[in-house]
Amino acid sequence: MDAMDSGIAKFPDLIDARRDELIALTQDLIRMPTLNPPGEAYLEICEYLAKRLKARKFHVELIRAHGTPGDSARYPRWNVVARREGKGPGACVHFNSHIDVVETGHGWTMDPFGGELKDGKIYGRGACDMKGGLAASIIAAEAFIDSFPDFNGAIEISGTADEETGGYGGVAYLAEKGYFNPSRVQHVIIPEPLNKDRVCLGHRGVWWAEIETRGHIAHGSMPFLGDCAVRHMGAVLQEFETGLYPALALKHTAMPVVPEGARQSTMNINSFHGGQAEPEADFTGFPSACVPDSCRMIIDRRYIIEEDPDDVRREVADVLAKVSAQRNDFSYDIREMWHVTPTMTDKSSPVVQSVSKSIEKVLNKSPEYVVSPGTYDQKHIDRIGRLKDCIAYGPGILDLAHQPDEYVGVDDMIDSAKVMALSLQDLLNA
Ligand SMILES: [Zn+2]
Repeated sequence: MDAMDSGIAKFPDLIDARRDELIALTQDLIRMPTLNPPGEAYLEICEYLAKRLKARKFHVELIRAHGTPGDSARYPRWNVVARREGKGPGACVHFNSHIDVVETGHGWTMDPFGGELKDGKIYGRGACDMKGGLAASIIAAEAFIDSFPDFNGAIEISGTADEETGGYGGVAYLAEKGYFNPSRVQHVIIPEPLNKDRVCLGHRGVWWAEIETRGHIAHGSMPFLGDCAVRHMGAVLQEFETGLYPALALKHTAMPVVPEGARQSTMNINSFHGGQAEPEADFTGFPSACVPDSCRMIIDRRYIIEEDPDDVRREVADVLAKVSAQRNDFSYDIREMWHVTPTMTDKSSPVVQSVSKSIEKVLNKSPEYVVSPGTYDQKHIDRIGRLKDCIAYGPGILDLAHQPDEYVGVDDMIDSAKVMALSLQDLLNA
């Protein structure tokens, strides 16, 4: 018998016995409307988590990310980090969940902050992304501690702000303060909703830029006296269609990105605006006749681990240079808005191995290894924290995230809590 086998008879029973507690915890978390933006109820949820974990002998810190984007007296960016030391020396396993949820949007048939339980599913904004995962990790850690009070190493659980808006008031801030220093934490599991039988190794890179073309304003009846910035941008779009998009479609990645359509380089036109601003909804008049002197476009380029970020930038610069060579008076600017490098944890790393083995034991199947098309807080843990042994693993169906009638299945939470608990045992006691 290996170290994992010795505890397996206990764990499933212990976590099954906590089913009602898991449901109640998830419901409590959903009922705190931690909407971001603007960043509601962060202190409330952090204090709730602090109280619960203090009672389980965790050392708890509430940390406000002063001065980060959106932080204000009305909407302070609060985070909670709880650490429970074991009896002996050893590694620290950290579960990191974001506490924020996105706006509810339209189309709900359930109360988005009701946390209603129906047919084995708990409904609400954030149920799957990712309060269900947070609740599962807490139940897993508590069950582990109760079974192995003399465990080695340490367990940390954090609830962090602002993941949905880049994580700067959350994990990025904590990483800068040393909370994800590899001397303090060795293994990180982020219980994002990636499905209970999948291990998410990382994510693609992101490059956002705003391009502006400039023209010259004139009367719309005599456009030849002006210079239309929208037509200049149209030429850029044309070059994207005929040159850049076909080139991106040829760049395939070995990263196991899901869905499969994202297993290549992609680019979204996030927004496009030229000419006069859209009138207010209550304005019923006509626009004035003008030639637009400015056009702006924001591009959202997602890149693969095989690409160099300088090449990603250069491709767009080359498009602009080509258009510039073809058109008279082509005047433009390009401004980088955001950049995140791709990250992918090695399959042979301890946390991947441990969670994979646990999935096999609990679900009786081999895990699927995936990479996220979009980014999540792993970027900060990797780049700022320099901590490489990090994955996303948690309950919930990824496709439900940010949708109306979002839910998390109770059985899925139970299964993933078992996987997390067994992984703790493997990483700390093996
Ligand atoms: Zn999330």
